[in-house]
Amino acid sequence: MAELLDEVTDLLQQLIRNACVNDGRLESGQEQRSVDLLASYLEGSGADLERYEAAPGRSSLVARIEGSDPTAPSLLLMGHTDVVPVNADRWQRDPFGGELVDGEVWGRGAVDMLNETASQAVAFRRLAAEGFKPKGSLVYFAVADEEALGTYGAGWMVEHELDAVRADYVITESGGFRMPLPSTGGIKLPVMVGEKGTYWCRIRVKGTPGHGSMPLRTDNALVKAAEVVRRIADYRPETNIIDAWSQFVRRAELPAELADALLDPRRVREFADTFPDLGLARMVHAATHTTFAPTVMHAGIKTNVIPDTVDLEVDIRTLPGQLEEDVLAMIEEALGDMRKDVELSAASNDPATASPVETPLWDSIQRVTEGLVPGSTIIPFIIVGATDARFFRRAGMTAYGAGLFSDRISFTEFASMFHGDNERIDQDSLRLSTDLWLALAKDFLG
Ligand SMILES: [Zn+2]
Repeated sequence: MAELLDEVTDLLQQLIRNACVNDGRLESGQEQRSVDLLASYLEGSGADLERYEAAPGRSSLVARIEGSDPTAPSLLLMGHTDVVPVNADRWQRDPFGGELVDGEVWGRGAVDMLNETASQAVAFRRLAAEGFKPKGSLVYFAVADEEALGTYGAGWMVEHELDAVRADYVITESGGFRMPLPSTGGIKLPVMVGEKGTYWCRIRVKGTPGHGSMPLRTDNALVKAAEVVRRIADYRPETNIIDAWSQFVRRAELPAELADALLDPRRVREFADTFPDLGLARMVHAATHTTFAPTVMHAGIKTNVIPDTVDLEVDIRTLPGQLEEDVLAMIEEALGDMRKDVELSAASNDPATASPVETPLWDSIQRVTEGLVPGSTIIPFIIVGATDARFFRRAGMTAYGAGLFSDRISFTEFASMFHGDNERIDQDSLRLSTDLWLALAKDFLG
């Protein structure tokens, strides 16, 4: 299997060097470069390849091994090819050099998620070249534009080319890392079964213009906006123990006292407020609450003019089952008597999604993972951000975030590398994830 490790390492290095940096502009990303790379890598393996272009240079690639039994469940492995921008000054190495140093590949995308995009391609090519004849179809999907809402990637494909990417089950980022949990009964590896929703709220605060030299008793929109921001920051929405969270806590086999605290709606908030590990505390809070983060404010036109309008933006993340009316009710509760001073509108409303935990794919991931990491158990988890899985769940498919990592890079380090500095992945993890996709395709699609 040494040659597979060389292949996945080399492919990942090339994907990193392609630097498909997506800053949200239509002309950024240019994922075509990595589609060319992956297509030439997969050509000649016997699989069917098809390219799709949502906008100039914004290409995605679909490769397919057709199943022999149309009634057997099919599986789509999806990896995005774009990456977020870097601040190169803060990196110890060239973020787009793809250097292999001491068993680690360095570069933007090494964990988010070119590692999986590369290992899925390597496993797929190996299966195709071996003449793998699955019952259900196996599809590999290298997708553009995950890092900016999926407009030219998964969103576009599900809307315009659904037949090309339709499958009963979908796997994408991110799971299989070792969480620092005080679990009993062996290693627990998360599989992402759902993700929170995004509601980006615009709040316009109204006032009355006046001269900056006579501020007494003026109706200053900026002064009002400061109070609006304070009220939103202080707002404490109800704790909400969703199904994915309680399944996670129960299956994690935590010490009873900790598990009780994490499942008790009256105690979770206090736990998050006082727990010493900030990263874990924030994650616990975000997984059990709707969150409100005021992030943008535009106000004023000139130092000597009392402003009459302030525009605020609030990043609100919702839990499964919450609708726009629930979000608006919470904002109104937060604003109280200031509701009359503001206008509310939604800049984007993308509800939360979740897939069931009890599925044949879940059982298959458990069998295969346990074979690769003896004594391990997979546990369900919810992503507090967003991934392309949401488009597929909304189209009626079961989608998980899965993967497999070694214990060489700690969880804290790993978490800080997502969109952070000095992103890198160890070769043991590349080997494990390649083996995961190979074994999973054989176990699940047979
Ligand atoms: Zn990602």
